Amino acid sequence: MTISTLLHKSRGKTAVRRAPEALAAALREVDDRRLRRRRVVAAPVNVEDAAAALAIDGRRYLNFCSNDYLGLATHPALAAAMAGAARAQGAGAGASHLVTGHGPEHEALEHELAEFTGRERALLFSSGYMANLGVAVALADRDDLVLGDRLNHASLVDAALLARTRRSLRYAHGDAAAARAALAAHAVAAPAAGALLLTDGVFSMDGDLAPLPALAAAAREHGAWLVLDDAHGLGVIGDGGRGSCAHFGLGAEEVPVLVGTLGKALGSFGAFVAGSADLIDLLVQRARTYIYTTALPQPVAAATRAALRLVRTEPWRRERLAQLIERFRRLATARGLPLSHSPTAIQPVVFGSESAALAASAALRDAGFWVGAIRPPTVPPGTARLRITLSAAHRDADVDALVEALAIAWARRVHEGAGP
Ligand SMILES: *Cc1c(COP(=O)(O)O)cnc(C)c1O
Repeated sequence: MTISTLLHKSRGKTAVRRAPEALAAALREVDDRRLRRRRVVAAPVNVEDAAAALAIDGRRYLNFCSNDYLGLATHPALAAAMAGAARAQGAGAGASHLVTGHGPEHEALEHELAEFTGRERALLFSSGYMANLGVAVALADRDDLVLGDRLNHASLVDAALLARTRRSLRYAHGDAAAARAALAAHAVAAPAAGALLLTDGVFSMDGDLAPLPALAAAAREHGAWLVLDDAHGLGVIGDGGRGSCAHFGLGAEEVPVLVGTLGKALGSFGAFVAGSADLIDLLVQRARTYIYTTALPQPVAAATRAALRLVRTEPWRRERLAQLIERFRRLATARGLPLSHSPTAIQPVVFGSESAALAASAALRDAGFWVGAIRPPTVPPGTARLRITLSAAHRDADVDALVEALAIAWARRVHEGAGP
């Protein structure tokens, strides 16, 4: 059986008592495992090519790890929409959506998102993380099964935990037959209970696609809610950039709960859930991460509306991205780099050990490329990697130079025998 309980993942963290030595010891443990995470102050170099260039510690780098797949985050149209809305309506919403925080920019954006995704309605959340938590809490009951892909995003894992159901299971990555078997077993064991099937559309650390048609069929057969988190598909894949559902030709019948995020390809911030009018109304009543939090600033919603217009009117951004993905894969394959089966902007190169991934990231940095090393627990142990992402803002020459630097880092890793 390819199913294991979701709670396995709550790793043995050492308890930290209130004492300076205890904090230092906990941090040392992270260091010893080469898992310490650090932030840098990264400033876009200029508005023209900021999707591709960053200034960090006084040096300029090409950015190959953002989620700004279409190069919209620093687009002047988004900045202008944001500034205009701020001047007209102020910076902050001042209240939650259910009190007085729901403004005209929010309302218009929700209509536009519903139309864009082909759903009856859409509901804005402050982030994708919160949207996923809200959906699970609103839809799952104590006896329901909450089922998810083993490589789902952390926010879906946490959503399953927060749903506080007694039955949380994960199935092997991409294994729709295992998901279906789990739903069938649950239908026998608890015929009166419901089920939630949670999946990324495009897996965030691997770039591959979920087997959505098979998952949709299994969910439908067993009366389960299929919740699709399309954070990395929306704006990028499918006809018109409408995401994973459009890619597979699936509609609201097959995928009744669609979560989209606005901080990735759309270049702004926030998230939404799209679905039937009743689903949205129920979320308004029950989704705690919607009810008990301040509404997004209206300028953010205005910027997102500008981004949606660009997604509609500038299909060249998606075409350009597709060309760069093809170029990267062709050159990297020719240089013997081990690619995954990703057709998307996310192109991981797995180095294995934490130290090998860190060394490769440092070597790329020396060569002028910013690509973070992704380590456990974000990815499974032994699969530390460079998560390379491409953007429509990159130039051909940027990709060519990146592949050269990567090939050198990979050859060095093989020489030094790092990793498994
Ligand atoms: C980034 C991401 C989220 C979280 O979205 P935020 O708006 O950044 O909170 C959720 N799901 C997936 C798959 C993601 O990649």
